[in-house]
Amino acid sequence: VESFHSVSEESNMIVAVRVRPLNALECTRGQVTNVVQVHGDSNELTVQAGCSADASAGVTHFFSYDQVYYSCDPERKNYAGQAKVFEGTARPLIDTAFDGYNACLFAYGQTGSGKSYSMMGIEALDDAALDGGPPHDEAGIIPRFCHELFRRIEEVKAHQQLQVEVEVSYFEIYNEKIHDLLSVQHATTAAGDSTPVQQQRPALKVREHPIFGPYVVDLSAHSVDSYSALRNWLAVGNSQRATASTAMNDKSSRSHSIFNIVLNLTNLSSGDEGLSSSDTDSGTVNSLRQTRRSKISLVDLAGSERISVSGSNGERIREGVSINKSLLTLGKVIAALADSRKAVGNSQMGNGTPTTFVPYRESVLTWLLRENLGGNSKTVMLATISPASLHADETLATLRYACKAR
Ligand code: ADP
Repeated sequence: VESFHSVSEESNMIVAVRVRPLNALECTRGQVTNVVQVHGDSNELTVQAGCSADASAGVTHFFSYDQVYYSCDPERKNYAGQAKVFEGTARPLIDTAFDGYNACLFAYGQTGSGKSYSMMGIEALDDAALDGGPPHDEAGIIPRFCHELFRRIEEVKAHQQLQVEVEVSYFEIYNEKIHDLLSVQHATTAAGDSTPVQQQRPALKVREHPIFGPYVVDLSAHSVDSYSALRNWLAVGNSQRATASTAMNDKSSRSHSIFNIVLNLTNLSSGDEGLSSSDTDSGTVNSLRQTRRSKISLVDLAGSERISVSGSNGERIREGVSINKSLLTLGKVIAALADSRKAVGNSQMGNGTPTTFVPYRESVLTWLLRENLGGNSKTVMLATISPASLHADETLATLRYACKAR
């Protein structure tokens, strides 16, 4: 057990699984049962599923991950609400950002399994945040991360001369095409008032910057100096996303949304105390760098059900027109990164250089996340699952996909 844990602590990839509660509809349907069990406070879970060869015989599937969050029953001791999920998955990435490294957190799972709830939470309840108030209890990872980021900036500024720049961008990838979610244009009405208008813009292209890597050409980026300013942009993007989704028959379940935060920190003090957030280990290297830049990508992926169709053993992935290329490639990329980490570990010559070919360029999503996935970046995969017997096949497909990252 010990060696198992030490491997994951060193890894730049954390895999977490979150189980949502049965919903009201599932509860009222008699045949639907909860087939996912989490054992105490452990990071292990089991799924009870009948195999199609013998539907009556239940088979127990056993899985273990870096973190498991059981969000089924608030009365249970190990219940994990929004705050607990944020603390375990996203809060450590604040340190990563302050240390000048990139990070990425993505939610993966079938539609309805809790990706948006985990990433954004219940937005309508979060209105107070627009006035700068703290995120509501049901706020998800993105608002909590942003709120905590600004709290930390203020904290650090109180005892260091620091110039801080925070810039956000928000876009979605649908059918391998990129659409800006923050491209609000101001139009002048006949009466002469200027009002923001959301326009359907042409798809944007990806290019490669010599230092910062792949980026979206002409993507709008917005400087923010407070949590409430940032929260306003988030609201703009979410409403653009919702509008597009309604217009195109629930496009949001088939698109990936990517919220990027770029943090630039410049040390203005003459001394060399460094910018280090907390750990002094990395301080020696970090104090030499006067400016640090970090890009954090928080990603709500498209529903995974469109790529995985369980065969008799639940492992088959159907190749066909409806395949979401970005999700498939993401699977290949994280598997290749996991393989190369293992190879580096085995050869005892770990210098962090991937030894396996990583097919970043095979999809728009992975190409754009390249600087957030490999190398020194920290990646968190949050796999969301439903506990319902009805979804057992999809749940198994998600859990297997998440295993490939280890
Ligand atoms: P997805 O984004 O994966 O399609 P959603 O996040 O929209 O799924 O979740 C589907 C429904 O389940 C929503 O009504 C959401 O509020 C609810 N839900 C999801 N996860 C949880 C959870 N952990 N606790 C309570 N409700 C949840």
